[in-house]
Amino acid sequence: MKKLCVMLAAVLLLALLSGCAFTDKLGQIDLPEPPGTEKETAAPTPDPAEAAAEQARQEELNARRAEALAEAERLRSGYFYDEAIAALSDEEIYDESVEAELAAIRAEKDSLVDYTGDVPHIFFHSLIVYPELVFTDRVTPMGGYNSGFSEKAELEKILPQLYERGYVLYDLDALWEMTDSGMQRNPILLPPGKTPLILSVDDVAYAYGDGFAQQLFVDENGELMYRVNNPQGGVDIVPDGDVMGVVDAFVEQHPDFAYRGHKGTIALTGFQGAFGYDYDIPEQAEQIRTVSAALKADGWNFASHSYTHNRVNNYYGPGCSVEKISYDINKWVDHVVPCIGETRLFIAPFGYRVQQPALQCILDAGFEIYCTVDSKVYNELNPDYALMSRIEIGGYSMTYYRDTLNELFFDVDSVFDVAGRPPVVG
Ligand SMILES: [Zn+2]
Repeated sequence: MKKLCVMLAAVLLLALLSGCAFTDKLGQIDLPEPPGTEKETAAPTPDPAEAAAEQARQEELNARRAEALAEAERLRSGYFYDEAIAALSDEEIYDESVEAELAAIRAEKDSLVDYTGDVPHIFFHSLIVYPELVFTDRVTPMGGYNSGFSEKAELEKILPQLYERGYVLYDLDALWEMTDSGMQRNPILLPPGKTPLILSVDDVAYAYGDGFAQQLFVDENGELMYRVNNPQGGVDIVPDGDVMGVVDAFVEQHPDFAYRGHKGTIALTGFQGAFGYDYDIPEQAEQIRTVSAALKADGWNFASHSYTHNRVNNYYGPGCSVEKISYDINKWVDHVVPCIGETRLFIAPFGYRVQQPALQCILDAGFEIYCTVDSKVYNELNPDYALMSRIEIGGYSMTYYRDTLNELFFDVDSVFDVAGRPPVVG
């Protein structure tokens, strides 16, 4: 016992005197190194090459992680939830930031609700890019382009308001599905507070003359570009010369405005060609193929808007006959489908609702979703087809359906170019 006390006293003394010259003699006693001396004396010199390699490895991992997080965020905001989760599947980059992003994606996916109301559908004709070329007389009341058309500047003001109101561009083709028990509405899963919106663009033949796009083409970089005659007598080559380009630019800035990249439906006729080309001239038909493939890749799809776009002589109007509707539909299928591919979307010219027996010609050609025109939102499910109304956005509706547009879509006063247009008549 006494011996132990002596030992302890010695240890204590040693600890106190550590650093003095004679402590070395007692080095065989197992004592902790005084703080601050161990690293300098005991640790092996680190290999600089190894340290540099480790640092490079960490930097590469950080870069990969940042890239994957940005990609996941981009996918999540476009409602590609599973794809966003897959973008973060690399185990090497896993850390708290990846874990937090994965949790956020899963939480948003779990929060989605099925939108069960009627789906609204708005449509435009090609945009008036230069109103001064179309409305040379701003005094005499005017219909035509002034009635059914919107200006590019107006659409640019409409889109942010639709976005603010929680609208999300949705795919018309995804709304209904033919099942064994007939047509059925598919679930529309969106975050709470979001509303699906169908957008379509009519005609897009580019046969309107000055003030509008003259042609759409794919440039050497693979970009969709419009040829538009400008007021100075020159030709603009621009990416936003019509609805599709203006919507593209907005979605680029607001990916959550388009559901899984889908932007809208283009309703093509036959008699005037498409995008500034003729279906019946082989080289031009090839251009239509190129442009429509690029539009599809960009989030657009196609509907039939009839071949003739005719409402007299028993076509798409009162007295429509099986003979005329059948002629029209067959002509569309023969001339247009080879260039743009098959579609089950039918956007009736003038929104005319063809009745049986002529309707059967349209259904038998494979069309399952039929669109009319109205001033209200209306969806109708039939055993063999679904029908929905479309609301036109143009001078006429901005003048005569102001309350409807204000209530449903945007504040008309902040959009409508009253100064640049003559008074609107139907
Ligand atoms: Zn039309």
